[in-house]
Amino acid sequence: MADRDIEQLRTELAAELGAEIVRWDDATLAGRAHDTWPLSLVRAHHGTLRSRPACVVTPESVDQVQAALVYANRHDVKVAPFGAGSGVCGGFLPDDETMVIDMGRMNQLLEVNEKALYARVQAGMMGDVFEAALNERGYTMGHFPQSIDLSTVGGWVSTRAAGQFSSRYGSIEDMLLGLEVVLVDGERIAIKPSPRRSAGPDLRHLFLGAEGTLGVITEVIVRIMPLPETRRLCSFAFADFDTGLEAIRQIVRAGWRPPVLRLYDEHESGRHFGQWVEGDACFLLILCEGVAPLANTEVEACREICLSLQGTETGEAPVEHWMGERNNVPNLADLVARGFVVDTIEVTADWSNITELYSAVIAAVASVESLLVVSGHSSHSYAQGTNIYFTFVAQPDDPGDAEKVYLECWKRAMDATVRCNGSISHHHGVGRLRVPWMRQEHGQGIEVLRAVKRALDPKGILNPGALLPE
Ligand SMILES: Cc1cc2nc3c(=O)[nH]c(=O)nc-3n(C[C@H](O)[C@H](O)[C@H](O)COP(=O)(O)OP(=O)(O)OC[C@H]3O[C@@H](n4cnc5c(N)ncnc54)[C@H](O)[C@@H]3O)c2cc1C
Repeated sequence: MADRDIEQLRTELAAELGAEIVRWDDATLAGRAHDTWPLSLVRAHHGTLRSRPACVVTPESVDQVQAALVYANRHDVKVAPFGAGSGVCGGFLPDDETMVIDMGRMNQLLEVNEKALYARVQAGMMGDVFEAALNERGYTMGHFPQSIDLSTVGGWVSTRAAGQFSSRYGSIEDMLLGLEVVLVDGERIAIKPSPRRSAGPDLRHLFLGAEGTLGVITEVIVRIMPLPETRRLCSFAFADFDTGLEAIRQIVRAGWRPPVLRLYDEHESGRHFGQWVEGDACFLLILCEGVAPLANTEVEACREICLSLQGTETGEAPVEHWMGERNNVPNLADLVARGFVVDTIEVTADWSNITELYSAVIAAVASVESLLVVSGHSSHSYAQGTNIYFTFVAQPDDPGDAEKVYLECWKRAMDATVRCNGSISHHHGVGRLRVPWMRQEHGQGIEVLRAVKRALDPKGILNPGALLPE
């Protein structure tokens, strides 16, 4: 789009939607240039980040979202929805021909249905504000991503997010009952909440994880539940990571579902729980909650399994410590400025493949030149398998090599995951970062996703570059 067209876009949009919701001043554009993808932070630090949108629309109503999309579709203008920008894979990276739709003003809690146990919320509501509003009424959603105070409810749906209590309560796809989406032509569709239905393919799943490529989510309806009555905690140290994984496998196989089952490898156990762990032990945190008889029985059953695998009991304090610290993360921009290359990579595999996958990814990333450390933990478990959440830190001699080193770590980790029959992402989504591995993840199914994209967004203006390979 030529400069003249960008000016035209801005002034026409302001005239159609109202000047107060269309902005293109420097500060606004700079604040909506990228998400929290570490590579964008590296590029911003080195002055090589080129993203900056044409304008930012902040709708206050569904009508305004519809009007913005109708305009964009009519004039072939690219659109990137924005929740709170906490995405870590470059799902949001608008160029200077892109209109950003910032959902931040659509942030109201619309309904809490205490009898049918659901809440209806506008997509731009921040996660912590939503959870606090539920807590005031005696309820919880049970969804606690580490970024709960950095992310929106619509962003959770768009990235298929998972929270720290997912092993009991499930991830966002298990909680989502209904939603409202505005399609690229301005059409509004509403999927009503229902406990279950057998009425053809489930349309909710089209928008779960779509990362803004199929429509703009304006409203979300999620399952809620009464706040738990009791909480019980325990922790164990195991001789090695594989034995800790075996304890988790036996716990979930037996049908127990502690919301928190987190196993750290020896590096992370030492880093986070050094005061409780000796030597190379691997640390398992367990938190059970719910009605008292259930929580009490569950914690005892978990204890029995851990002791049978020679786990050493280390008490409640480490879990309390984690509860207090769990959302504190180092300032990434600071680390980047000091020349470190840092990221986390979360992948998943079934129990037959997970130990091999853990070792393969650790070995693959450890072999990258200038790597300082690579470590991992398991934090979301299922009867069929679990995830591993890797963290790597590198420090290239030449700070100009940061991007190369970053991409090499990711390539080795993704290739090793695919080789071990893993899935390339557990909960951070695809963004632009994982696009090269989408074909291996989905096989020929990628053509079905492309066909859906063509049907819902024939001009390809919704968040191009994210999710799907060109
Ligand atoms: C410190 C930190 C910790 C994190 N911890 C977790 C964690 O525990 N679990 C987890 O799952 N993730 C985690 N994340 C990742 C991130 O918080 C999630 O991906 C989150 O769901 C993104 O929400 P957001 O509102 O910030 O979305 P954004 O980053 O603004 O957008 C994410 C993607 O969704 C699209 N999008 C946003 N809103 C809409 C909408 N209304 N309609 C259509 N498309 C939309 C955007 O275009 C983009 O492609 C973490 C991130 C950070 C920085």
